[in-house]
Amino acid sequence: MGVCEHAAVADDCIFCGIVRGDIPAIKVDEDEHTIAFMDIAPWHRGHALVIPRRHVRDVGEASPDDVAHVLRAAQRLAGRMRDRLGHGDVTLANAMGEAAGQTVFHFHVHVVPGLEVDVARRAPEPGELEEIAAKLR
Ligand code: AMP
Ligand code: ZN
Repeated sequence: MGVCEHAAVADDCIFCGIVRGDIPAIKVDEDEHTIAFMDIAPWHRGHALVIPRRHVRDVGEASPDDVAHVLRAAQRLAGRMRDRLGHGDVTLANAMGEAAGQTVFHFHVHVVPGLEVDVARRAPEPGELEEIAAKLR
């Protein structure tokens, strides 16, 4: 079966679908515990997400190891944004729960180049996600 511990959740979890390879994603990094990919509705150019391969609902449900693995991967990606995209300033963000703005209930950390998070979404330019992903891999 899949890699998720909570099979009932995994079936309708978008990010578990990405982990399984059932749902396409523009991946920029992966290791034994995590996957990083481009956000399909970026806050800013270069916006990526880091998730644990293991399904956990949010940071509150995550184990200390989940948090460590995800943050370590986010740190790695932030370093690449600084070195390859020229962004020294990077926002790491996480929403826990609906009222905080969480919309996908599989723990994830947003890694966003730039100083401010502009929550007014925009469609990415054609080829933009691939272009930036290629620099971050
Ligand atoms: P949040 O609102 O903090 O739960 O963030 C969920 C994020 O997942 C949003 O920024 C969405 O744009 C992003 N997202 C949802 N589905 C996908 C997908 N299939 N591939 C990439 N990013 C996604
Ligand atoms: Zn999941």
